[in-house]
Amino acid sequence: MNPAKEQHPAAGLACGRRNVWDLLSAEEKNQTMAFAEEYKQFLDAGKTEREVITLSENLLKKAGFRNLTECSSLKPGDKVYAIIRRKALVAAVLGRIPLVEGLHLVGAHIDSPRLDLKPRPLYEEEDLVFLKTHYYGGIKKYQWLSVPLALHGLVVKNDGSSIPVIIGENPGDPVFTVNDLLPHLAKDQMEKKMMDAVPGETLNILAGSIPLGDVELKERFKLAVLDLLYRNYGLVEEDLISAELELVPAWPARDIGLDRSFVGGYGQDDRVCAYTALRACLEISAPERTAVLVLADKEEIGSTGNTGMTAAFLTNALAEIGFRCSPDFTELHLRRTLANSRALSADVNVALDPNYGDVVEKRNTARVGGGLVITKYTGTRGKSGTNDAHAEMVAWIRQIFNRSGIIWQTGELGKVDQGGGGTVAHFLAAHGMDVLDCGVGLLGMHSPFEVASKADIYMAYRGYGAFLASH
Ligand code: MN
Ligand code: MN
Repeated sequence: MNPAKEQHPAAGLACGRRNVWDLLSAEEKNQTMAFAEEYKQFLDAGKTEREVITLSENLLKKAGFRNLTECSSLKPGDKVYAIIRRKALVAAVLGRIPLVEGLHLVGAHIDSPRLDLKPRPLYEEEDLVFLKTHYYGGIKKYQWLSVPLALHGLVVKNDGSSIPVIIGENPGDPVFTVNDLLPHLAKDQMEKKMMDAVPGETLNILAGSIPLGDVELKERFKLAVLDLLYRNYGLVEEDLISAELELVPAWPARDIGLDRSFVGGYGQDDRVCAYTALRACLEISAPERTAVLVLADKEEIGSTGNTGMTAAFLTNALAEIGFRCSPDFTELHLRRTLANSRALSADVNVALDPNYGDVVEKRNTARVGGGLVITKYTGTRGKSGTNDAHAEMVAWIRQIFNRSGIIWQTGELGKVDQGGGGTVAHFLAAHGMDVLDCGVGLLGMHSPFEVASKADIYMAYRGYGAFLASH
């Protein structure tokens, strides 16, 4: 046996990098793996923002949260939620100290890149039936070719009734696809820049090829599909105009790797943060400070619309909560509440992929398995468009995580001048609150099959919980 090597006293001064797997006990490893099983089920059942809202509402109800509209007054310890247009959600656990002293808020988004059907999607060409799409969010278009796609969403008919649609998720269901060009004839395509190789107007969905009637009948291939839509759903073509039909990857979330250390699946940006924050919120009881969860829509297209983070839904919900806590809750109280709050913008960040190591700066980028990622700033070029959290806020979160045994790391969104992006952090900060970006590092972000480490997923759940429960 060798005597233990003595460390230089200065060795402890450096900030090293940790790997969550090294630090988990056997029991914690089991918890990490078990948590991922529940997360995968959530990913499979929540492939659109509406589906995520339904799932979240069910979990909130089961945990004793009540719909805000059913509560006339609120007191500390009460648990409530508000749903906005079935696409965004605000949940709160009322704290002991008054709202005006500030909230602890975690905000994630539940929309993900996908292909949306156009209002007039259906057409036939050369005896084939297709559906026109318009992509939603930032995608690399080639990734959406030659993969099985499921159709999710709803159609609102002329009489106002709503027809839910999910085709392609059950083993016996048909699926859809966008055909790619065979390599034998792709000489011209291959010479194009990747950005131009797949024009947006070629993302047309293959939807049928059996004609109706005889050859004299005009558009008989398209009519055959319309006939099916009418017989199966009672729909006519005009109904598709008032519809939201989204094509998403038809496959389920899966374990990746011989050691099953990763979850692969669609929509992990940002449902990995939405789910872990939701789970953390479900477990908060009688906090000192009011804990708030926000699940927002439309982040991938700029947080616009009345369910996006730039809209009034959060302030409206908080005003309703404030009024129910005390009927003399004014606009000034609301402003103080917001300005005294602290928030985690719970969104994913890039994790180092050694195959693409040159787009990140290795000293500052996050690693899969390195723990929950805190990101002081995102943005592009000279930090343009970012929240850039204050040092005090970063220190405060760091302290909570260190105190609670959360394994965390720092991240940044690519090396300087490589590209960049943003989150909802700066929209939350606009209300006056202190905000820090904090989420899970992904591989293959925005692809139809994103990859996250189960260790990081579990740390996100624990970290959001520690923040929401802190004073
Ligand atoms: Mn995101
Ligand atoms: Mn995104």
